[in-house]
Amino acid sequence: MNFPLAQRIAELQPSDIRLMSRECERRGGINLGQGLGDLPTPPLVRDGAIEAILAGHNTYTAPEGVLPLRLAIAGKLLRDNGLSVDPEREIVISSGTTGAFAATLTALLNPGDGIVLMEPYYGYHLNTILLNGLEPQFLTLRQPDFALDEAALRAVIRPYTRALVVCTPSNPSGKMFDADELALIGRVADEHDLLVISDEIYEYISYDGRSHISPATVDRLGKRTVSIMGFSKTFSITGWRLGYAVAEARLANAINLVNDLLYVCAPSPLQYGVAAGLQAPPEYFQHLRDDYQRKRDILCNGLHEAGLTPLVPQGAYYVLADIGHLGFADAKTAALAILEQTGVASIPGSSFYRGSEGERLLRFCFAKDDATLHEAVKRLRQLRA
Ligand code: PLP
Repeated sequence: MNFPLAQRIAELQPSDIRLMSRECERRGGINLGQGLGDLPTPPLVRDGAIEAILAGHNTYTAPEGVLPLRLAIAGKLLRDNGLSVDPEREIVISSGTTGAFAATLTALLNPGDGIVLMEPYYGYHLNTILLNGLEPQFLTLRQPDFALDEAALRAVIRPYTRALVVCTPSNPSGKMFDADELALIGRVADEHDLLVISDEIYEYISYDGRSHISPATVDRLGKRTVSIMGFSKTFSITGWRLGYAVAEARLANAINLVNDLLYVCAPSPLQYGVAAGLQAPPEYFQHLRDDYQRKRDILCNGLHEAGLTPLVPQGAYYVLADIGHLGFADAKTAALAILEQTGVASIPGSSFYRGSEGERLLRFCFAKDDATLHEAVKRLRQLRA
């Protein structure tokens, strides 16, 4: 049947993530491309979910999630983010951070609205924006530190701009927005009456003693920010599909209407598992940071030794490496050639930019066990040979 696809499908930006994973699997290589986060799930979380299944928590829940989880999140927001929220009216549990982000865009913005997206961007952000008929307005953060420039930010805003996405710590750059940058976003958002949507899924993965700042705690941003957070990375449960949005009650209510229509609810027993996980002692979160910092250093040192130039991340678990000096025609050719030569898969930087800036970059993920990272680094050194 020659049935035409919806126009919006043609507008989506293709990504090379799946392609690289397939090619890697075909060759039996080491996949440092996709951020699978395939590290052990903490027993507290795993056992909490198993107990909930055995206790019969297997039916639909309220679309905004079960109260024990919302209470645990409200406690966590106060303790770790400095945010005081009403667990009954201001938290919406969703199908991953991805679900919370999608429900937020659909509930709060109209087709044709402009939304500022900083690049390098996370591909799901761009495609969810496109799927909702919104107009992405790209703001390029310059390498190597990806600092936010006031003039560039002001220049991108148009009369139809309604929102701005902040991803901190960022995938793929690992950039963490500092207090001055967030204050600038606060001033500009206030002047132009913008909604700020902050994706903070990597909030607990930060390096070199840096502290994560939640945009909603910044002057002028409290009321106009939807904070999108999740558990995939914090508890290594990317397949559980649990995340949440935090917003003032009127916005949260609209987000929850869409959340209900799209997902009905997040998986019931898994919500209890995560509620248990949020009672983990502070040492759990410190270990998480220390573990990932060690992994970051193994990979960054290895990339350096292999003759690639890592742009050392401040947070999250990816590193962009500059390969401009290696003379490949483009990033995809480079990623495929390096996979062929070393058996290590990465993601072409072109998946994170709409222009040519990404063509000299590859993204490697270090959410892997140390042995796998050491083996990957050993193989990458062959590039020098
Ligand atoms: N947001 C960012 C910036 C990510 O990098 C990812 C996963 O890689 C997600 C959201 C997806 O989160 P979730 O598994 O909670 O849907």
